[in-house]
Amino acid sequence: MDAQHMPSDFSSVLFDEPTLLARIEELAHDVERDYEGRDLLLVGVLKGATVLLSDFSRALDRHVDIEWMAVSSYGSGTKSSGVVRILKDLDADITGRNVLVVEDILDSGLTLSWLLGNLRSRGAATVEVLTLLRKPGAAKVQVDPRYIGFDIPNEFVVGYGLDYAERYRNLRQIAVLAPHVYA
Ligand code: IMP
Ligand code: MG
Repeated sequence: MDAQHMPSDFSSVLFDEPTLLARIEELAHDVERDYEGRDLLLVGVLKGATVLLSDFSRALDRHVDIEWMAVSSYGSGTKSSGVVRILKDLDADITGRNVLVVEDILDSGLTLSWLLGNLRSRGAATVEVLTLLRKPGAAKVQVDPRYIGFDIPNEFVVGYGLDYAERYRNLRQIAVLAPHVYA
């Protein structure tokens, strides 16, 4: 769906579809260069990274394996709880693998820092992070993503996989949700 068709739901559109795809192409080139000659396993974090991983994996001009994990952090609100649970684990053994975790957004960092510790403890050769969005002001935990799409202001955004109460994931753009929607 398109932000233009429901303008009152959003205070602004941060990134349109061509802008997102162009940046993802750039990130894919960086990843191709950095992992040249090495195996690569993409781990998408459900559900927010589904749209990103679909576009990012197809932008990569090389073989990759794809795995999914689901962890809970947010519930249906707009504030991080700090409580992380595995809802769906990896299907594959990652011992000795080069793991690139693909995330939609880095906010407090609580979810990612927990996930990275968990993946490293399973004996992966390398564990790096690609995040499409980062809210730098909000970082409570030090997480250092190797690849970052865009730094954004500390506002609640939806679309391109990101939800509010499970809605807006299918929005083509990334937009700031208007406060009246969740007030
Ligand atoms: P963190 O643990 O605070 O870094 O939260 C990470 C997770 O919270 C992300 O993977 C998203 O699912 C969710 N999240 C954080 N900020 C936003 C936002 O602005 N919009 C939608 N979801 C968000
Ligand atoms: Mg969410």
